[in-house]
Amino acid sequence: MSCTLELFLYFILHPKDVKLAFIFAHPDDESLSTGGTIAKYTSTGHIVSTLCLSSTEDRETEYLAATETLGVQEPKILDYSNVVDFERQIKKDVINFILEFRPEIIVTHLPEDYHIDHRTTYHVVKEAIEWAAHETQYDNSHLVSKLYITETTILISNPHILVDISAYYNVKENAIKCYTTQLSKGGEGFYVKFHKYRTLMRGTQASTDYAEAFHEIPLKKNSPFFKTKNSEL
Ligand SMILES: [Zn+2]
Repeated sequence: MSCTLELFLYFILHPKDVKLAFIFAHPDDESLSTGGTIAKYTSTGHIVSTLCLSSTEDRETEYLAATETLGVQEPKILDYSNVVDFERQIKKDVINFILEFRPEIIVTHLPEDYHIDHRTTYHVVKEAIEWAAHETQYDNSHLVSKLYITETTILISNPHILVDISAYYNVKENAIKCYTTQLSKGGEGFYVKFHKYRTLMRGTQASTDYAEAFHEIPLKKNSPFFKTKNSEL
């Protein structure tokens, strides 16, 4: 029996057309961090896009294989060599992605992650969400409803939500194994094992087998420059 809190209580209030975007720094972060959650929601018919902010040619091929494994309908990838050097340009691309895909929910890295590209991604995404809602900047402005951060390399000390991914763990692991160029990083087996034991630990906390952890970041819902100046909770 699972007493896992579901990430998207929001779906109960807004069951139709809820779009989720998972924005991460590198090819593989989406599978390592949230592969189970992505597979869960694509398999239940929700519209999911992943946006990867940097790439190399071989990893782009792996990314497309992994996101196909997870059932992502709209995988997107930018061709910047890293996130930090191109932060300003990437922010514009993330704003354009938000305006085009118009997600209700965005998931990204932790602001205190050990990897500078992950930390920068968090700040880029947070700022892009705010800018995308400015009606004075964009005729097609869009207000994202929820922002969640999730675990890639370090743990959330006190997650708000644990999503039960037990039925999707094998899909997550298959997606991770698409990244053949990465599998020996950190020592043989580390890459798969690290994320397996993390999801097992989160599963134990959630009284199930495997889970992924999320923390909600409050978003500004009211601004003189937002089209919608009042919101539902
Ligand atoms: Zn990464």
